Amino acid sequence: MLFIGIPIFHVFMLSSNYAQRDYQNEEEAEHNSDVECSLCNSTLTIFDAEAGEIVCSNCGVVIQDNIESLEKEWRAYTAEALRGKERSGMPTSLAIHDRGLSTYISDSHVDAAGAIISPEQMSKIRRLQKWNKISNFNSRAYTRNLKNAFALLSRIKDKLSLTDAVTEKAAYYYRKALTKKLIKGRSIEAMIVACIYAACRELSILRTLEEIAKAANTDKVFAGKCYRLLLRHLKIQNLPLVDCGNYLSRTANNANVSEKSYRKALEMLSMVKKDPISFGKDPNALAVAVLYAACIREGEKVSQGGMALAGNTSVVSLRKRFADVIKIFS
Ligand SMILES: [Zn+2]
Repeated sequence: MLFIGIPIFHVFMLSSNYAQRDYQNEEEAEHNSDVECSLCNSTLTIFDAEAGEIVCSNCGVVIQDNIESLEKEWRAYTAEALRGKERSGMPTSLAIHDRGLSTYISDSHVDAAGAIISPEQMSKIRRLQKWNKISNFNSRAYTRNLKNAFALLSRIKDKLSLTDAVTEKAAYYYRKALTKKLIKGRSIEAMIVACIYAACRELSILRTLEEIAKAANTDKVFAGKCYRLLLRHLKIQNLPLVDCGNYLSRTANNANVSEKSYRKALEMLSMVKKDPISFGKDPNALAVAVLYAACIREGEKVSQGGMALAGNTSVVSLRKRFADVIKIFS
């Protein structure tokens, strides 16, 4: 019943809408397009630039909505004004559930000119607000899922000080995962962590899966499983390898190691990287172990526990990699 209900609702909304509007805009004229109506298979469609919708001219079903309009939303009468004006408004973002394209009707009691809206008009506007809210927020499980996921994404973005480029990429992966139904039976949190980690890897930004999972307050093992699933299903390949040197500088910064020890560690790391013993080892733990070894060599007092904490790794892995480093230099 529900599936039949939606198109009928759309048709009703449209017929009432379109009856009031006169078609002066050229863009709104009927034209043949590649898009096909899912109900009557007609290719005769109407593009409504104002509403950003493609509508079937045969049966009135909305085929596509929330289409971006690339036209200008202002008019200029002189050449000077034309040059001075630019497109305004927020850029669209994948990390917003509706890409920031949906209509928002404000709660205010005054109109755009500042005049108080008359009671008759107000009741009409209240009704519009109500329908707008219903169509925006309660529409589909898909939209609700995106809303929850992207709220979490923006929280993690703040906690880990990620850039917009990372969140956009993560949101892109998440949308793909949702379309491929990878999230079914898994948690939104774990999948978002996996998407952020994949985005960080792709953009060569140093964030460990553990770190991101901790910020999202979720299990890193499940997040790791989701990450591998994501790589497999979205065919993400050839992610750039994270260089040990990046980890080294971060750990040295966190542990307040002297410049002399850091330089020594860089020198040692270039030798360690060439040695087969280091192949396939966790680059972060390896970098921490090299830094620890360099500090000992330079006579700087550091503890294994403190170094492991600064490098975001465990003391056990530090000791194991430290043993490897000793083997290389002995
Ligand atoms: Zn149709």
